[in-house]
Amino acid sequence: MSKTLERALKKNSWLTKEIDGLTLNQSPLLAKQANLVHAFTTRLGGNSPAPVDTFNLGRHLDTDDSRADAARNRQKLCQALGLDFQRLAVPGQVHSSIVVIADEKNTYKEVDGVATKELNRPLLLHFADCVPVIIFDTKKSVLSIVHAGWRGTAGSIAKNGVRLMAEHFGSRPADIIAAVGPAIGSCCYPTGDEVATKLAATVSNIADLVTYKEGVPYPDLKAVNAMQLLESGVGEVDVTDICTACQPELFYSHRQSGGKTGRQGAIGSIIG
Ligand SMILES: [Zn+2]
Repeated sequence: MSKTLERALKKNSWLTKEIDGLTLNQSPLLAKQANLVHAFTTRLGGNSPAPVDTFNLGRHLDTDDSRADAARNRQKLCQALGLDFQRLAVPGQVHSSIVVIADEKNTYKEVDGVATKELNRPLLLHFADCVPVIIFDTKKSVLSIVHAGWRGTAGSIAKNGVRLMAEHFGSRPADIIAAVGPAIGSCCYPTGDEVATKLAATVSNIADLVTYKEGVPYPDLKAVNAMQLLESGVGEVDVTDICTACQPELFYSHRQSGGKTGRQGAIGSIIG
């Protein structure tokens, strides 16, 4: 096995923090960055009703009550982390592989990744099995967060995030680190052959990134994203060992719930 593949497959145990009643996960690698605040939320700590109980951040349920509750939870999350809710950038995710710069216009309706170099410009994206990736340039302090489900991963959205940071802000991939957060693990993710084939096309060697059981592919989406980042030249990648479908009491899982569930968040902000 190549060294890069070994690094992509490695899973780490992450930090759990309780802040203002919220249970949050953090990447030990990103937590060391003094000018970055970040967190991956769980479903604990809010008042959202079933089936999105209790800390739903998504506004995907089409009722005023649910949308208001999600807005309150976003505000609560910002408050807990000391971030400015008024400046929060939240893309309207559509399973694309598009990453854009977060700006004052706040017009990122159909994108699945945002990047910024602005201080105190929090970025928030939503997940329920899809892979959250927080990407950070440690030298130039540039931040990007992407939403990588299988479609986004097949479209190399993590690579697109790194490329945008390089092209727009002059980031050098070697200075970039990334955290690959709570998402569905290979253990719980049987797919069709066409999914595995599309994922394979994004990396130089898919061997070991997909496990086969009785001929059915079980892709390790977190590892495919880590591999894409490492093959982009990213210096270090920290992949969590958390599988969202294995722990439905802690995380929203689209697969495990049959689609009726809430959304956890990946949030980050560059601070002064
Ligand atoms: Zn699992």
